[in-house]
Amino acid sequence: MKIKLLPSTIDAVGHASPEQRLSCFVVDGCVCIDAGSIAIGLGAEESARVRDVIVTHPHMDHVATLPIFIDDLFSFLEEPVRVHATAEVCELLVRDVFNGTVYPPFQNFDNGRTRVMQFVPFEEGEQFPVAHLWVKAVAVSHIVPTVGLVLSDGERTLAFSSDTASTEEFWHVVNREPRLDALLIEASFPNSLKKLADVSGHLTPEALGAELRKLRHEDIDILAMHLKPSFRRQLVEELEALKVPRLVAMEPGREYEW
Ligand SMILES: [Zn+2]
Ligand SMILES: [Zn+2]
Repeated sequence: MKIKLLPSTIDAVGHASPEQRLSCFVVDGCVCIDAGSIAIGLGAEESARVRDVIVTHPHMDHVATLPIFIDDLFSFLEEPVRVHATAEVCELLVRDVFNGTVYPPFQNFDNGRTRVMQFVPFEEGEQFPVAHLWVKAVAVSHIVPTVGLVLSDGERTLAFSSDTASTEEFWHVVNREPRLDALLIEASFPNSLKKLADVSGHLTPEALGAELRKLRHEDIDILAMHLKPSFRRQLVEELEALKVPRLVAMEPGREYEW
């Protein structure tokens, strides 16, 4: 299984830089987890393939360019862009994004050949198919309804939790998996901003270290992501100081494979 964090920040001469402002992860070139930078970070070939987007929660950094992505593809779609999320998050996206004011209600539109966007609600705790993957969603501890994910292609298994504070059920579900190849997890704020991390439902490297003690799988790659861009260098140092084997900060634009 392959996963790539799309770049979302460009430097003064237009090159992608390592800071992450928006969240969008491409799995095997055809499924996206979250859609913050989907319309600006996906190449043309990937845009032609991605028709499934799993939305973990409705925060702007996770859905910012989803409407633009569908807008770009509108005339060319032969099948809808399927937005997989809990029923609650689907309703929030209809109410707050695809509401005819912020952007058109694409869920009601077709281009003459197909509906352009389709909400596909999933239940927490149940396994559901997304393209070639089996996915399980678990509620995590953020300030709005948010899920973490366990993804499997039948051979490899990845666990993923972007925005979350300290959480329990996610680790129970991950620990029950017979095999785990990699974990992607957030580390948003430096240790000195623990209070801000707590009230906004995020982790510091120290808090991540405590979470990782709940993980039963050993010898897996752990990629830290959702590093607040203004603190990236400090966060990388604090993550290294944890001395957790195979824990590194995920690099935008790089494809990781297991
Ligand atoms: Zn969030
Ligand atoms: Zn976020």
